[in-house]
Amino acid sequence: MIVWRDFARRMVEVVRMNGVRDGEVLRVLGEVPRHLFIPSLRGPCEAGDQGALRTAYGDHPLPIGFGQTISQPTMVGRMTELLSPEPPVRVLEVGSGCGYQCAVLARMGCSVVGVERIRDLADWSREVLGGLGMEVSIIHGDGRALGGDLGPFDGIVVSAGCSREDAEGIFGAFGGDGCRMVAPVNVGGGLQRVLVLEMEGGEVRESWQDLCRFVPLLGGVEG
Ligand code: SAH
Repeated sequence: MIVWRDFARRMVEVVRMNGVRDGEVLRVLGEVPRHLFIPSLRGPCEAGDQGALRTAYGDHPLPIGFGQTISQPTMVGRMTELLSPEPPVRVLEVGSGCGYQCAVLARMGCSVVGVERIRDLADWSREVLGGLGMEVSIIHGDGRALGGDLGPFDGIVVSAGCSREDAEGIFGAFGGDGCRMVAPVNVGGGLQRVLVLEMEGGEVRESWQDLCRFVPLLGGVEG
């Protein structure tokens, strides 16, 4: 009996009620052991602590140390649904943190490269993803200042609140024809809105989606 799956199943119901509709995304959210990505909850959850499991599978962001958070499952589901990757595709995540969004994309069948500016988090995510047998490549670096030879990618997820210029810069550096990018863009008043950019036959189409809240995209690296 794998007890975390019961908590994950309930979490998926909440994510569904919060508006994520894509069946494949919901299925994958129920299959990724979120508790393993949260340093302070991993041990207690593995020991079967029900309170820790309830917290780990709540539909909220949670602190993971280094002043950062693991994203809210509904937000991870929504970003993945908006990206709607059709595997096999290459996806870049800028701001991969503990690796949870990378794991969801990998479980969907994508080939994933994550970029994280905090070295300890990059190391942690590599360990967790490796332990799950997921071949995700994590780069310690600043997503705004990487060499362009990494790309082009079919999909890009930015997981930190950024300016429109940042979003367009990342799309220009790593997106190719047919690429879709989802990014939380600062829209003033402390709010962000998910911007979807798509390149089709050399033309860029854009649409604005949900309001959201991510930690900010910062310059430089730590560690
Ligand atoms: N994707 C994570 C949540 C990450 S929170 C999840 O699935 O839970 C956003 C992350 O972006 C933080 O870890 C932060 O350190 C990182 N970040 C911020 N600015 C960055 C930059 N310029 N390049 C790379 N990572 C960045």
